[in-house]
Amino acid sequence: MKGRPEILWPLFGDLEKLPGIGPKSASNFKHLNVEKPRDLIFTLPTGGIDRRPVSSITEVTPPCVVTVEIEIGRHHPPATRGRPYRVFVKDAKTEFTLIFFHASGDWLAKQLPTGQRRIVSGRVELFDGLAQMPHPDHILLPAEADQIPPYEPVYPLTAGITAKMMTKAVDGALLLAPDLPEWIDNSLKKQEKWPDWRNALQAAHLPVGAGDLSPEAPARKRLAYDELFAHQLTLAIARSERRQKKGLSSSGDGTLRDKVLSALPYKPTKAQARAIAEVAADMASTTRMSRLLQGDVGSGKTLVALAALLVAVEAGGQGAMMAPTEILARQHLANLQPLAESAGVVLEILTGRDKGKERVAKLAALASGKIHILVGTHALFQKDVEFQDLRLAIIDEQHRFGVAERMRLGGKGRAVDVLVMTATPIPRSLELTMYGEMEVSTLDEKPPGRTPVTTALTSAGRIDEVVDHLRGAVAEGRQAYWVCPLVEESEVSDMTAAVERFKSLRAALGDGVVGLVHGQMPSADKDAAMADFVAGRTQVLVATTVIEVGVDVANASIMVIERAEHFGLAQLHQLRGRVGRGAAASTCLLMYQPPLTEGGRRRLETLRETDDGFKIAEADLEMRGAGDLIGTAQSGLPRFQVADADRQAALMAVAHQDARALLTTDPTLTTDRGQAARVLLYLMERDRAIRLLSVG
Ligand code: ADP
Ligand code: MG
Repeated sequence: MKGRPEILWPLFGDLEKLPGIGPKSASNFKHLNVEKPRDLIFTLPTGGIDRRPVSSITEVTPPCVVTVEIEIGRHHPPATRGRPYRVFVKDAKTEFTLIFFHASGDWLAKQLPTGQRRIVSGRVELFDGLAQMPHPDHILLPAEADQIPPYEPVYPLTAGITAKMMTKAVDGALLLAPDLPEWIDNSLKKQEKWPDWRNALQAAHLPVGAGDLSPEAPARKRLAYDELFAHQLTLAIARSERRQKKGLSSSGDGTLRDKVLSALPYKPTKAQARAIAEVAADMASTTRMSRLLQGDVGSGKTLVALAALLVAVEAGGQGAMMAPTEILARQHLANLQPLAESAGVVLEILTGRDKGKERVAKLAALASGKIHILVGTHALFQKDVEFQDLRLAIIDEQHRFGVAERMRLGGKGRAVDVLVMTATPIPRSLELTMYGEMEVSTLDEKPPGRTPVTTALTSAGRIDEVVDHLRGAVAEGRQAYWVCPLVEESEVSDMTAAVERFKSLRAALGDGVVGLVHGQMPSADKDAAMADFVAGRTQVLVATTVIEVGVDVANASIMVIERAEHFGLAQLHQLRGRVGRGAAASTCLLMYQPPLTEGGRRRLETLRETDDGFKIAEADLEMRGAGDLIGTAQSGLPRFQVADADRQAALMAVAHQDARALLTTDPTLTTDRGQAARVLLYLMERDRAIRLLSVG
C-alpha cells in the first residue's frame, strides 16, 4: 500500500519468510486471521502453562502440567496392538508411568534409556488411581533443563498450526518489530507506567505468570490502548475533516414546522422537542452536521426526522431520508406525505422499483427542486440521482452502516448535513466505539398515553390455547402480528414455516382474516399484504422478521413470536415494539420450544421484566459480549485484536479524549507525536483515515 512508512514494511511482508512457515502453513494461518507478520505480533497468548520444575509429582494435584526430573525404569511395550507403550519412571518421591500411543519402540529406547535421568514436562493424570503422563511435551537431559520455559505462553491454534509452529512464527515476527516513535501522550504513559511499544509487545508474548495475561497488565493494557487510540483517532479525523470543510448553514423560519406540528393530533414530547432543537441548531451552524439520533422503538424518531427535513426545506433546500427496507420506506411515505402536503411540501419516494419513464420524471422533478423531500431505500444514493440543493441526508438505519460507510456518505457531493437514526439503543459503553465521531441526541422518553405491553412466556405445546385466545381478540376487532420462527438454514425454510402457519391460522380463524408477508414474496404482494393489514382488512399478519424494522400499525395490540428463544434480545425487543403503539392494552406472547437453554431462559425473562431498550441493550451486551451483539460485520463495530471494547470502556473514553485533543493541537498530524500517530494508524491498518487527512 502506497504511503506506508518504510519502518513498517517488514511487518507487512510475506508470512512465508518467517522461520518454519511454508505455503501450506501460511494458508492455515489464515484461519486465525493471520496473513502477515503484523497479524502475528498482535495474536497474544490466551493462556499460559506453568512449567517450573518440582521435585516430585506428589507436590501437585493431577490433572495438571508438571515438570519433574526422573530416573527411567523399565520399558513395557504393548502386548497387543492399540495398547499403549509404557515406561516406568521414578521422581524424588514416587513412581509413575509415561504413556505413548502408536510410538516406535526404537525411538523410545533412544529417548528414554533405562537407568538414565531426564527432565520431562507434560500433563499428569490419574488413571485407576495411578499417575501417568501421556506423551510428555518435553523430554530433555537434566543439563538442558533451561530449554523449558518456566511459563509457556499458550496461543490460539487451528488445524495445521501446532503450538510449536506458532511459538516459532511469533518469535520470528517479533524480531521484525522495530522500535517505533511514541504516539501516546507522555503524562498518560507515565501515569499508567506503560512500557514502550516494542517492549510491551515482547512482554505480552513472554508472560511469566497469570497476572501478565490480565488485561490490566501494563504491557497488554498499552497494546489495547494503542488499538483504541487508533480507532478514536480515525473517528476524530473523520469528524474534524468534516468540521473543517465548510458546511451549509440551513436555518428556517419555522413556518413549515409550525404548520405540520399544528396538524398533528399530539404535541412533541420534551425529548423530541430537545432533539429537534439540537438538530436545527446544528443545521444552522456552518460546520457540517454529523449527528446520531438514538431512541428506543416507539420513542418517535420519525417526527424528529420530519422536523429536520422541514428545516432543510424552509432554508430553501431539499432533504432525503433513507430507510433500510422497501416496506419501511413506503411506510415513511404513507405517514409523512399527508403531513408534508398539509404544509404545501412535496414529498416523494424513490426505490429500486422505480423504473423507466416514471423514474426519469421523478429524477427531473428532483433536479429542478419540485420535489422537496425524498424518502427511499439505498436507491436514493445511486449515481444519477441528483438533487437541486440537497442539505440534509437522514439514514434510518438498523446498525447497518459502519464508520466507513458513513464516511463515504459524508464524502458524497457537497457538505450535506447527516443525521443517522438508530432504533437499537447502544449500550453507553459502546457508544464511543461505534459513533465516537458523531454528536448524539437521545430520545429518552416515550410519548404519553401508551399502556405498557404485557409480556408472557408460553410453551409451544399450548399453541391451541393461544389460537383460541387470538380468535377472541379478532372477534373484538383487535389486530395481531404472528412472527414465525427464524430457521437457521435458509430463507426458503423461513418462508415454508410462515406459509404453513398462515394456512393453519387461516383454517382456524377463517378466510380473509389472516394475511402473510415474507422476504421471498414479490414486492408488490408484500406491499399489498402490508396495506391490507394497515387498513384493517386483515386482522392477523403472519410474518417472518421482515416486519422487524419500524413498521407502525397503531391498532395492532398482540404480538405472538414463535420459537422466541431463537431470536436475539435486541431483535425481540424490536419485534415487541411493533405493538403498544395505540391506547389499547397490548400483549406480547413469547412462545418457546422446551426445554429452554439457560441463555434462552435468561433472554426471555429479561424481556418479560423490562421494556427499557437501554437496559435490554446492556443486558444483551453482558450476556453475549460486544462482538456478538449486533453481528460484527454489519454492525460497524470494529474488530479489536487486543482490546475488549465492552470491558475496556473507560480506556476507550480516555482514547476518545486523547485523540480529539491531539487533533485539536495538531490537526494535520505533523508534530513529532503527530507523525508517530500516523505510524500507529498505518500499523493498525487505518490507511483510509490517513487518506482523509492528506486530502483535508
Ligand atoms: P420510532 O422511534 O420507533 O421510529 P415512530 O416515530 O414510528 O417511533 O413513532 C411511534 C408512534 O408514536 C407513531 O405512531 C407516532 O405517530 C407516535 N408518536 C410520535 N410522537 C408522538 C408524540 N409526541 N405523542 C404521541 N404520539 C407520538
Ligand atoms: Mg422508526
